[in-house]
Amino acid sequence: MCEYCIEHGEGQKWYLQMKNYAEDLLHEELSPSQKGQANTETRLEWNQRFFQNFVSPAIGGLPAAQNYMTGASADAPPRAPQMTEDEIVAQRKVVHFGQVLPLEDAEQVLDLVDSITRLPCGCRFLSIGKTDKRYCIGLGMDKWGILGKYPDAASSLEVLDREEAKSIIQEYDEEGLVHTIWTGMAPYTVGLCNCDRDCMAYKGFIEKGGPASFFRGEYVAQVDHDLCTGCKSCLTQCQFGAQFYSSALERVYIDPQRCFGCGLCRAACPQDAIELLPRERLPEVAELWL
Ligand code: SF4
Ligand code: SF4
Ligand code: SF4
Repeated sequence: MCEYCIEHGEGQKWYLQMKNYAEDLLHEELSPSQKGQANTETRLEWNQRFFQNFVSPAIGGLPAAQNYMTGASADAPPRAPQMTEDEIVAQRKVVHFGQVLPLEDAEQVLDLVDSITRLPCGCRFLSIGKTDKRYCIGLGMDKWGILGKYPDAASSLEVLDREEAKSIIQEYDEEGLVHTIWTGMAPYTVGLCNCDRDCMAYKGFIEKGGPASFFRGEYVAQVDHDLCTGCKSCLTQCQFGAQFYSSALERVYIDPQRCFGCGLCRAACPQDAIELLPRERLPEVAELWL
C-alpha cells in the first residue's frame, strides 16, 4: 500500500474510500501547516483556484493569472529554487498529488462518486496549446458550485453519467492513455485523468526525471511466457519504458522496477498474456512507489 493508502485509506486503496470524496472535507478549516503549503483557508478555496487557473485557461485559451498550486502571481519572475526535491514532493503530497490506476480501479471510482464532469485538459493547453482535448474527468464537481461560479465555462463542461464515463475511459485505455487519480488538497479526491507525454506531471517526473508528482499504481504487470507469442503488439503501449523484447526467445519481458502498473499493455495483447499482480506480491518492488 502506498503512503496515501496508509494515511488516507486505513490500509485500503485511498481512492476507493468514500470519505475522500465527502463534501465536508471541502469546507473544513485546514491545519496551519496545510494553509502554509496551499495558501488557502479551505480545500474549497484551493479547488476553486485550481479551476480558475488551470482548467479555465484551457477553456478560453488564456494565460493563467496565478499559479494554481500556491496562488503566486503567474507573471512573477522566476525565482532561484528555494525548495529541495524532497520538500517539493512533500508539498505536492499535501496539495495535489496523483497515482496511476488501472481501468478496473478507475471504473470502481466512477461507481463511487455522485457527479462526473468531463473537462478540457489544462496540461494539454499548457504543453501543446490545445483547448479541445477533453481527457480530464472531474469528480464531484457540482459540489463546488463551480458551474454557477464560472458561467462562461459551464457550457464547455460535460456532465456524464456513469456508463458514458466508463465507455470514454475504456476508449482512452485502448488509445494508450494512462489513468491517474488526483487529490485537490489531500485527501480530497478531485480528478480522474488520462495522460501521456503531454501531461505536465508526466513530463516533469518521468520524461525529465524531476520531483515526483504521482505514485506508481498498486500493481505490477507480468507476462505469461507460455501464452506470449512475441507479436510485439503491446510494445507501443508502455509510457514508462518497462517492456523489452527478446529476439532470441521471441517473448516480451516487463521490468517490475520500471512498471507503473497502469495495465495499458493488456489492452493490446491478443493472447491475454499480461496480468496485473498486486505490487505487494513482488517483494523486490513492494515498496517502490515513486
Ligand atoms: S493530469 Fe492528464 S488529463 Fe489531467 S490535466 Fe494533466 S494531462 Fe490532462
Ligand atoms: S508494463 Fe504495462 S502495466 Fe507496466 S507501466 Fe508499462 S504499460 Fe503499464
Ligand atoms: S501483445 Fe501479448 S502476445 Fe504479443 S508480445 Fe505482447 S505479451 Fe506477447
